[in-house]
Amino acid sequence: MFSCRAIPWLKNRHIVIVVPGPLQMDFNLSEEQQMFADSVRRFAEDKLAAGALARAHDPRFPFDVARLLAEQGLLGIAFDPADGGQGGTLLDSVITIEQIASVCPRSADVVQAGNFGPIRTFVEYASAEQKARYLPDLLGGRAVISLGMSEPDAGSAATEMKTAAKADGDHYVIDGSKVFGTHSPDANLFLVYLRFGPGVGGIGSVLVERGTPGFTVGKASSFMSGEEWSPLYFENCRIHKSNVLLGPGGFKKQISGFNVERLGNSSRSLALGRYAFNLAREHALVRRQFGRLLCEFQGLQWKFADMATKLDSAQLLLYRAASVKEGLPSAYHTAMAKLACNQAGFEAANEAVQIMGGLGYSTEALVEYCMRRTRGWMIAGGSIEILKNRIAEDVFERRFDQRGVQVRAAE
Ligand SMILES: Cc1cc2nc3c(=O)[nH]c(=O)nc-3n(C[C@H](O)[C@H](O)[C@H](O)COP(=O)(O)OP(=O)(O)OC[C@H]3O[C@@H](n4cnc5c(N)ncnc54)[C@H](O)[C@@H]3O)c2cc1C
Repeated sequence: MFSCRAIPWLKNRHIVIVVPGPLQMDFNLSEEQQMFADSVRRFAEDKLAAGALARAHDPRFPFDVARLLAEQGLLGIAFDPADGGQGGTLLDSVITIEQIASVCPRSADVVQAGNFGPIRTFVEYASAEQKARYLPDLLGGRAVISLGMSEPDAGSAATEMKTAAKADGDHYVIDGSKVFGTHSPDANLFLVYLRFGPGVGGIGSVLVERGTPGFTVGKASSFMSGEEWSPLYFENCRIHKSNVLLGPGGFKKQISGFNVERLGNSSRSLALGRYAFNLAREHALVRRQFGRLLCEFQGLQWKFADMATKLDSAQLLLYRAASVKEGLPSAYHTAMAKLACNQAGFEAANEAVQIMGGLGYSTEALVEYCMRRTRGWMIAGGSIEILKNRIAEDVFERRFDQRGVQVRAAE
């Protein structure tokens, strides 16, 4: 931090010299945060290390892990205790992802689902009655919620969604479809973004339970990561009005809640990149070729130096974005953190595969898994290009309409 001090003999020239003040930035975790991180790590080593490889290759949501984490108070970490949460901070949740992922990368998805994903938007805006209805199972590790935002014709341009709700007495009738939802094959509850009317102002969201008549969870497809997603179909699907989370005009609020989801996505990218980095480092310390250890080749040392620098830089941006005193994180800080973490995580995992050679490319080591997973987060939750668009808007302090002239004219 710097403080400003006017220099007396320069007063008339209106010059202010900026001199270093007392250093206020602390780049370390506090003692409590470190103790918390260590305890989560010990828990993960004790309970999650054994099944880490099998879990990574199982596409289904690990409800057993969810129940274990729930028992430890690791779901709803930053939620209000009145909602069944732990009253912790967003940074505590980030630390949890880091520690769990460092032992079992796949289990970090459960931390995401119970702290950062659509559950976070739900907690922010749900009514007391909706919370009472759904939170006990979601925070107890017995249920998982999936986000239905993307549509076949509305990906990055999310506001072009067509799925719509029409009022009919005390009900809404929903028609449309959704794609790519994380945990959609296993979810019990779906947070569905849709339109109540035209334009961005017409967008809101509803809660739809699996099994609701007119709502079909289609046949699962696989991502490159091995995760599965199911298309969602709504055909004359009637839901009660009490299932509305945010009515028309709710889009901005939803996207603010989505910033937390983006930070969970950033945390996992970084944590899996670091996991792969650590495995490659251990490998380079013991593997010999041409009579020398791999770590003695300068070509590989430089890879490690680049990876370490990118991972640490991204971590600082992530911690800045997650260190909110209250409310939701800033869109600008979140976009920068996600961009940096997505790129650093993937690049580290990708290089780790290369450094470990055939072993790194084999499914017996989790390095290739980390590479496949980190690749997906460069697309999911706001692709790296869309994040750059968002950052550029802050740089230039103006909005850039991404739509072509023809599209605007046709509206
Ligand atoms: C692992 C994974 C998990 C996901 N989970 C969910 C989920 O839980 N719920 C959900 O609703 N969706 C989910 N998605 C979908 C995800 O949100 C979309 O894939 C994403 O928004 C991109 O949309 P798209 O795939 O239609 O690509 P498109 O929007 O068609 O984009 C294609 C390419 O063009 C680029 N592009 C598009 N517009 C611009 C522009 N204006 N400027 C520069 N480049 C541009 C994109 O960055 C991308 O590289 C998930 C996707 C993945 C991969």
